[in-house]
Amino acid sequence: VRRGRWLRRALAAGGLAAALPAAPAGAQEPGETLPGPTLRYGVLYDVRILPSQRAAHVVLRLDNTESLLRWLRLRVDPDRHRNFEGNGTLTRGDGTVEWHPPAGAGRLEYDFRIDHLRDARSFDARCAEDWALFRGDDLVPPARVRSRVGAESAAHLRLRLPAGWSVAAPWEHEPDGLFRIDRPARRFDRPVGWLVAGRIGVLRERVAGTQLAVAGPLGHGLRRLDLLALLRWTVPSLRELLPEALPPRLLVVGAGDPMWRGGLSGPASLYVHADRPLISNDGTSPLLHELMHTVLRVRAGKGGDWLVEGLAEYYGLELLRRSRTLSRRRHEKILERLAVRGRGAPRLESGDVDGTVVARAVTVLRGLDRELREASDDRRSLDDVLRRVAGRDLLLTSDSFRAVAESVHGASLAGFFRRQLASG
Ligand SMILES: [Zn+2]
Repeated sequence: VRRGRWLRRALAAGGLAAALPAAPAGAQEPGETLPGPTLRYGVLYDVRILPSQRAAHVVLRLDNTESLLRWLRLRVDPDRHRNFEGNGTLTRGDGTVEWHPPAGAGRLEYDFRIDHLRDARSFDARCAEDWALFRGDDLVPPARVRSRVGAESAAHLRLRLPAGWSVAAPWEHEPDGLFRIDRPARRFDRPVGWLVAGRIGVLRERVAGTQLAVAGPLGHGLRRLDLLALLRWTVPSLRELLPEALPPRLLVVGAGDPMWRGGLSGPASLYVHADRPLISNDGTSPLLHELMHTVLRVRAGKGGDWLVEGLAEYYGLELLRRSRTLSRRRHEKILERLAVRGRGAPRLESGDVDGTVVARAVTVLRGLDRELREASDDRRSLDDVLRRVAGRDLLLTSDSFRAVAESVHGASLAGFFRRQLASG
């Protein structure tokens, strides 16, 4: 069997099907327990971008020599994921495609329509003549897999681009041009996060131990150096705040109209519209707000949106203050204005999170920070709470957040939360 380079490398990376134990690199002490054997099957996402069709053609190549992967069920968007074909057995369901690959070399192909409207007129994914900007999470939709116990994927992605195009993506680029797709917490690796390809401008720099990149299509007015400058000022404060949660690489992508005029976070990456200011006149920063979402990786459970948005906004402002981008006095004034604005908010847990709810959430979090500091002679603060929720893919609700805050506080915060949640 002829094996491509990606297969040989997957083998080298841990054994495709050879049941090699994932032994540590160092010498093994006698009597030390070896971790269980890791079984790996190779996955290559072979992706070609086709601007004339505003689409990408995806070929998932699988090395299933040892039949480790039994089936894979994709949760597809029928408008965007189309024309599925493959060997083995394919079953199309309601919003799903289930694939039972054969033993040996598996192949599953489909077309991905890149363009996606966020509202009537603007896109949150777009393929134009000479650029494309979208999420890898959509390119390869969420999948459930059934594999042999303990088996996991060793995945790579090859991107085939039109002549003259280049790409910026939040994945490790290997010397031979493939991206290594590895999410250690997942057994089946998908290429998640924002990417931009085409005739693009890219700035790359290492800041506080993170490889930053700022990228966007040429001619869109994306102020790459401005964005990089604000990140150079603030990422060191973020590294101090959350040393563990900051990813090793971080990509900021942006473009102008007809892209959506806001900001959107993703794994190790975020999108901002080219016209958004670095810092708005109300003192908040769209860039740092999304950056906090990216790093915190918390999602809202029932009624928890106020916390997800409030933490991103509160700590976006904190990064500006801690990096001395904003003076202490100006920061204080901004918080006072937010407190006034938040008085008009509906109940925090009511669901719809508009600007007034975010303003009120910031005020509540500030009050909680004060409560924690006063009770501990400044030894504990909201930062400690944040460190316990960041980077764990948590579902935040008022109750789960209160439990974490109480674990920091060492006493009940029921009264505090009852007062804050009741008003509005
Ligand atoms: Zn947000």
